Amino acid sequence: MANLTLEHVTKRYEDVTAVDDMNLDIDDGEFICLVGPSGCGKSTTMETIAGLTKPTEGTITIGDLDVTNLPPKDRGVAMVFQNIALFPHMDVYENISFGLRLRDYDPDEIDRRVEHATDVVQLEGMLDRMPEEMSGGQRQRVAIARAIVREPDVFLMDEPLANLDAKLRVHMRTELQRLHKELDTTIIYVTHDQAEAMTMSDRIAVIDGGELQQIDPPLVCYNEPANLFVAGFIGSPSMNLLPGKLTANAAETDDFSIDLDVENVPDASAGDDVTVGVRPEDVYPTDTQGAISTPSKPIHVTTDVLEPMGDQIFVYLTFDETDGGTMKGDAAGSDQLLMSVDPDREIEEDESMEVVFDRTKVHLFDSASGDALVHGVDDLSASGFESRVSDTRSGGGDE
Ligand code: ADP
Repeated sequence: MANLTLEHVTKRYEDVTAVDDMNLDIDDGEFICLVGPSGCGKSTTMETIAGLTKPTEGTITIGDLDVTNLPPKDRGVAMVFQNIALFPHMDVYENISFGLRLRDYDPDEIDRRVEHATDVVQLEGMLDRMPEEMSGGQRQRVAIARAIVREPDVFLMDEPLANLDAKLRVHMRTELQRLHKELDTTIIYVTHDQAEAMTMSDRIAVIDGGELQQIDPPLVCYNEPANLFVAGFIGSPSMNLLPGKLTANAAETDDFSIDLDVENVPDASAGDDVTVGVRPEDVYPTDTQGAISTPSKPIHVTTDVLEPMGDQIFVYLTFDETDGGTMKGDAAGSDQLLMSVDPDREIEEDESMEVVFDRTKVHLFDSASGDALVHGVDDLSASGFESRVSDTRSGGGDE
């Protein structure tokens, strides 16, 4: 086990900056997910930690050791990759013990480690199986066991579940969490799948364009996204993000306005371009607004497409022209809003209705910089400070 620090790590390839001034401070025993869209620099960050790539600038420390210039084998890390490269002509025991045998470990020590690792990944009784006789999930467990026997200070996993089918992936997520608990070791895990990151990690490092956007526990990223990128990336379906402008007493969009006193919005003033963010589960038909104590003003909408998911219904809404703020222009009514409602609610396409937002869950972002201004506008209104009562329906966006 060891803590791991990246200080000002930058990696440039000719005209591409794959990693841009990355600072990470990962605690001993933490499970951290590096998450972001394809090409954002996750794997390159991981490769600099593993020692497969040398950073152009910056320092990497594992425990007390500056490993920036050390070869991979001297860093105390073990990697598990997306492509499970098992030796096809070796059985499970030989595959798992290969690295130790190569380094001339004592046979008794090898046996001890293989037994422990197969116990952890639950492959007991399969040591003489050949890779071709195993399922994808079992092969992935062999690859993980091969990393475990090295007894690394830090596990590095680069999309290890990406090649598995959806059901197995969900199962392996639970297995990895159990593994983490059992080994009590630092794990850094790369994924482009925000759901994977949300469910497994102690903290998520959200990366875009080679830059760290936010590093926080999953629910903090979900409930208090640092900027527009994190707001749009974390959560599925995504947060509704609607462009607007601040006036003295509201955030106005083409289609609605949210009352507030601009004096109460930190780092903002009237005339600023803002983006109003609200998650689908924080939009309510007015007839269920009893569920929330801090509704926004009603907004007229018409239901468009319905997507019944079983546990909820996603309802695409279009704004009615009769409504809204002072910015109405040519684009009025063109924006869509996504709402999720209980599955037993009766709802039809082309139904005219009114919806409200839970003001405690309305986010404002500075449209120019993308930075979050405020999460929850319930205590920003001019008419005094309303109490901050949490949503009784979803418990605050838990997934
Ligand atoms: P991710 O893992 O998030 O998909 P990568 O770290 O693989 O992203 O890549 C980040 C950026 O760096 C991409 O634009 C990619 O094309 C570029 N890149 C990665 N490796 C190399 C390389 N060896 N040479 C040139 N460009 C590279």
